[in-house]
Amino acid sequence: MIGALAILGAAAAGASARWNWWRPAVSGGLPVLMYHKIGDYPPGSKLKKLWVAAADFRRQLEYLRDHGYAAVGLRDWRDAEKGVRPLPPKPVMITFDDGYMNNYDFAFPLLKEFGMKSCVFLVYETVGKHNGWHDPKTEPWLRMLTWSQIREMRDSGLVEFGSHTMRHRNLAELPLDEVKWELAESKLRLEDRLSCEMLGFAYPYGSGAYKADVRRAALEAGYRFDFSIKQGISSIPWNREKEAVKRLLIRGDDGMFDFHLNLTRGKARF
Ligand SMILES: [Zn+2]
Repeated sequence: MIGALAILGAAAAGASARWNWWRPAVSGGLPVLMYHKIGDYPPGSKLKKLWVAAADFRRQLEYLRDHGYAAVGLRDWRDAEKGVRPLPPKPVMITFDDGYMNNYDFAFPLLKEFGMKSCVFLVYETVGKHNGWHDPKTEPWLRMLTWSQIREMRDSGLVEFGSHTMRHRNLAELPLDEVKWELAESKLRLEDRLSCEMLGFAYPYGSGAYKADVRRAALEAGYRFDFSIKQGISSIPWNREKEAVKRLLIRGDDGMFDFHLNLTRGKARF
């Protein structure tokens, strides 16, 4: 009997450690979902958690639709901040870091099917190439979006783009003049290529988002919104002076309950 109770107790402790369902729901704010790779991970990958299967991504979009969320873009948020047009009552933002070709192959068709907006943060020098910053020992290199795919996504009106630097270096470890170059050069070149303002910036590895001089440089480069990888939901209106926009990491091994907790509690796990 005591053994059974101990097992039950351990199971309950395990569940509450993983799922903080007992937290009160967060009301308001703008949940920003952070994805990387959509599809099936390559054999031998040591980064499986960064892959969300297309079927899971579809289920997540269904969840958003069925729960009344409206996927907004960076321009919508900018317009809301300027007082042009308020955000819808249950906004959500769907973001992808790095700009993998699998975003075009697997996410874009579903985003079109559901009519949902999203934002992809590009690494300028890797467009049309592969993720050369990455150590291929943990996973083979992957193909990145091409300019023609990017233009097609832009022209759909559903996908906006932001900067994720020139080379995906760790900004917290670079001299400040190189940080400034990564920020300004990628913004300039992406704007030139895509003929639209780069409103958003995402820090590679989330690094530098909490280093005062790096963050100041990002805002001074002219980005209106900077995105960290700190888990959580930033409130609306967002306090730009306080910290970069928080996001919700959507992991490949998340279930739908994790997804629900992320959106409603700002966190699915400890
Ligand atoms: Zn990245």
